[in-house]
Amino acid sequence: MYCSKCGNKLEKKFLELEGMIDFCNKCNEYVFEKTNVAVSMIILNPNETKMLYIKQYGTNKFRLVAGYTNKGESLEHTVYREMGEEIGRYPSSISFNMSKYFEPSNTLIANFICKLTSEEIFPNDEIDYYEWINLDDAMDKIKEARLAKVFVNEYFNKKLKK
Ligand SMILES: [Zn+2]
Repeated sequence: MYCSKCGNKLEKKFLELEGMIDFCNKCNEYVFEKTNVAVSMIILNPNETKMLYIKQYGTNKFRLVAGYTNKGESLEHTVYREMGEEIGRYPSSISFNMSKYFEPSNTLIANFICKLTSEEIFPNDEIDYYEWINLDDAMDKIKEARLAKVFVNEYFNKKLKK
């Protein structure tokens, strides 16, 4: 392993609470393995009886609205920006649901529950199709989406505990 900033060969050095971590002697810095960060959203209608599913990129699978976090952005900011870009609406409230690491794209995905003040949306051209799904059908219709179904399932678990 070499330093991505200066090209120096990395050494292992002890870091408290972590253990042996790659270290660059030239930059005097620890080097952690990087992971991508993204958000996905369970978007609810005002009376929380339906959630918004979309289809994208020519596939026939329902998925959640989602997007990558840019450098310098908070997760909450990513949620606002992505919802604005993809559906032309901003949430009236957002709350954290759960996060999960997705190995194929080396991405940590944080899922949020977002509410809208109406069901009207203005999808951009990245969205082929959208549908407000009754909560009764929500699990069944997302079962082909590996991660989304875990997030939706957790949403229902939390709802039952309330
Ligand atoms: Zn370096």
